[in-house]
Amino acid sequence: MRVLVVEDEKKLGQLVQRGLREEGYAADLAEQGEEALWMARAVDYDAIVLDVMLPGLDGFEVCRRLRADGIWSPVLMLTARDAVDDRVMGLDAGADDYLAKPFSFEELLARLRALTRRAPVQRPSVMEVGELRLDPASHRAWRGDTELDLSAKEFSLLELFMRRPGIALSRGQLLDGAWDMAFEARSNVIDVYVRYLREKIDRPFGRDSIETVRGVGYRLRADA
Ligand code: CA
Repeated sequence: MRVLVVEDEKKLGQLVQRGLREEGYAADLAEQGEEALWMARAVDYDAIVLDVMLPGLDGFEVCRRLRADGIWSPVLMLTARDAVDDRVMGLDAGADDYLAKPFSFEELLARLRALTRRAPVQRPSVMEVGELRLDPASHRAWRGDTELDLSAKEFSLLELFMRRPGIALSRGQLLDGAWDMAFEARSNVIDVYVRYLREKIDRPFGRDSIETVRGVGYRLRADA
């Protein structure tokens, strides 16, 4: 079992890391959200212990980005207080469970055992929306029998749409999901890439599966 601990309070982070190692877990420690994202993308963790209060990207945002990237390691959120808002936000962001600080190490272990005992996480294999198919593992996509020739960015954008068919996604959500660096967050970058994507997945097939939602963003038709 390999666990990622994300906690900026050095002492607490190291305490949890050491405790987990004594219990036979492999445990890595990240002190910042960005670092945690990088590590979780590189390593297939069995669980992530994620503090909400982090400098820079907070725990909610880290969790949202992980899920948007298709990383489904179970997340146990550490909330600073037993506030309903924090719990709701955590679960909305894609966390699996939460633990309010201060917590006992025994309880942390029990929660981790429960999380890692659950049925193996459903990692989406090949996604299908209407005639569109996308395989995140091999990075290939098709409309019907025709394979689509997509750039890396077009591919991640299509993947975001296919994770939420029929749902209107804002430009902000699409940016967060497909772009890592804030400096790329020019307002029209999404519009440009949606146009590219339409040229590849829709126009040659006489389709119109990515709809513009006025004042919001875009939506992939559920019957693409
Ligand atoms: Ca903290």
